[in-house]
Formats: sequence, structure tokens, C-alpha cells
Amino acid sequence: MEAIIGSLYTERHMNNTHTPMPTPRKAVALISGGLDSMLAARVIADQGVHVEGINFYTGFCVEGHTHAIRKKDRDKDKRNNALWVAEQLGIKLHIIDVIEEYKDVVINPRHGYGQHLNPCLDCKVFMVHKAQAWAWMEEHQFDFIITGEVIGQRPKSQRKATMPLIARESGADDRLLRPLSARNLPPTLPEKEGWVDRERLFDFHGRSRKPQIELAAKLGFEDFSQPSGGCCFLTDKSYSKRLADLWQSRGRRDYEFDDIMLLKVGRHLRPRPHYKIVIGREEGENNYLSGYRHDFPTIKTISHKGAFALVDGEVTDDDLRQAAAIVARYSQGRDSDQVQTQITRPGQPVCGYIVTVAPMSGDEIPSSWYV
Ligand code: SF4
Repeated sequence: MEAIIGSLYTERHMNNTHTPMPTPRKAVALISGGLDSMLAARVIADQGVHVEGINFYTGFCVEGHTHAIRKKDRDKDKRNNALWVAEQLGIKLHIIDVIEEYKDVVINPRHGYGQHLNPCLDCKVFMVHKAQAWAWMEEHQFDFIITGEVIGQRPKSQRKATMPLIARESGADDRLLRPLSARNLPPTLPEKEGWVDRERLFDFHGRSRKPQIELAAKLGFEDFSQPSGGCCFLTDKSYSKRLADLWQSRGRRDYEFDDIMLLKVGRHLRPRPHYKIVIGREEGENNYLSGYRHDFPTIKTISHKGAFALVDGEVTDDDLRQAAAIVARYSQGRDSDQVQTQITRPGQPVCGYIVTVAPMSGDEIPSSWYV
């Protein structure tokens, strides 16, 4: 790692006449795509620091995935918020796939979960650590890390007591700067060394978003993302319930990328402990689910429009017949006496076989089946 001493400028680069060329200090900003990280990056860039963004793709990110699939959401924004923020700030953004490494954070969080299966504290430590490992690399030579954390914003992960814990456990120590709450925290290296002016940082704290909104207006940001459930699906109650169900049904806590994508889509029912049905709620979801037809048994209603489903588990023909009756309930044939369904199994002819069923009534589907 490069030794960093003194002034706002380093002398890493020399010009041809060997006159030192001042190079601004470099900071890497964790960009989630939300308002706070956008403000934090901007505040530091405004102090003459060279800022680049880093965004980690965990697979749980709330990034237009379901909006892109569902017809009713077609008018909603499908932008990648992190990229959009970087564009607003005029900074480079590095998007890094951490899907595999992140599994351990979700499955074995040392500091436990938040309200749902969101391991926010471990997640912050992980992300700052990853950012630090990337930023300190010889070819990158960043000097410090910025996050948009605000003391008291989140009950578990963003408390005054957890701020030093994240800095310590990530290994970033006093090279981790939270510009929005910096004046409520001990001075960090960038402040002590004068790379940034502490007086021009902020002392935001608590759950109110008012100071951030005011700062955004002052800085001229009119459009920004403030996802209500946070930055990932793990803060979502029903998503977490589905993930817990997945782990319980498999008897082990792990997942593959496709598992966590499928948890975002459709209606999920578990009529028996050994199998689950994922039913598309509309055409877009049906199309998305049909992309998995080579991996799962599928059920499609053919006498009536409307339903396509995947069946996850080791199923018998009787199970599939029961599943078909449930799927028929969600087709346009729900009030008919009989609905024809087409059932396929992976590795068998794609045309499958036809099963005619009586759609289950709402009363026959206990609420405990819904995952
Ligand atoms: S909401 Fe998700 S991405 Fe954000 S800190 Fe928590 S676990 Fe990490």
C-alpha cells in the first residue's frame, strides 16, 4: 500500500520536466443507487477529491428486475439506479459481481439479521472490506472510502455504536469516511490530513430524511431514488419468508442464483412439504418462468388462458395432478368444472402430457400453503 502523508495532493505522477504534477486524492464511494450515497459522493467530489463509485451486485438488489418482467409495471422506471447516480455525478462506476462470496454473509451473519433476513451489519462490513481490498490495489491506489451511512438511520446497522465496528471489522479503519454524519464521529484520516475539510461535512443523524432532501435540493438534485424497503429484497418481509421456506424445505441453508431470482417472481404455494409451485401472476411472469422449463416440471393451462407454473421438488404424478388443480384455480377457467392442463417434466418430450382437472376452489387452498 502506498504511504500517504500530508497534503491534499500526492506526487504520484511526474511530468516530463520532473516538475511534480499535483494529483487529487482519490476516494471510492459505495454507490447503492439511493440518495444518501449519491449525496456523500457529491459532497466529497465538491472538495476536489477524485471520486469513483463502486457497486456490488449481490443478486438481491432491487433493480428493475420485477418491473422489467411484469406487464403492469411496464411504465415504471427500469433504470439501474447505481449507474444513473454515477451518470448524475459524472463519475466512473465499477460494478462488481459478488454473488458467490455474498452467500456466506446471508447464510452465516456474525451479527445476526435485522427485522427480516437482512444481514445489514455484516453486509456493510463485507462491502466496505471488498471496496477497501479493491481500492487499495496497487493499480487503483485509492486513499479512502466513502459511504452514505447516517447515524441512527437504520435501527441495527446504522447506529453510533456500529459505525466504528464496521470501520474496524472491514479493515478500513480511519480511512472510512461518512460525509453525511462525519461531524458526529471522530475525525478520520482524510479529515486529519486535510484531504477534506471537516467543516464542510455534515452531522446528520436519525431517521428523518429531511436533511438529505434539503441537501439534495441545495445541490440541484431533483430526481433521486429512495426505495422504501431499502436497497435489497432481503429487507422485504414476504421475500424473506420465501427464502426461509426454501432453506427449511431443503434442510440446509444455501442457495443458487436462480433460486433467489425465482423468489422474486410469481405466487408461491407449498401444498406439501416436499414440493412448491411457482405460478406466474401475469403474462410477463409466465414468460419469465417458462425460461426455466428445462429445469423444473411445468404446468400450463391450455383450455383456458392465464396460468403457467413451475413445480419445485421431487414430485409424483399424483403431486402434479394436485398442483395442476391449484394452477387451474389461477387461470381464466377457475369457475369452470374442468380445465385442461399440459404437464412437462425435464428430459421428457417438450409437449408433455395432458391432464384434465377440476380447479381447486379458494376454500380448498389453506392460507398456510402460501409462501
Ligand atoms: S438492505 Fe441489503 S444491501 Fe442494504 S445493508 Fe442491508 S443487507 Fe446489505
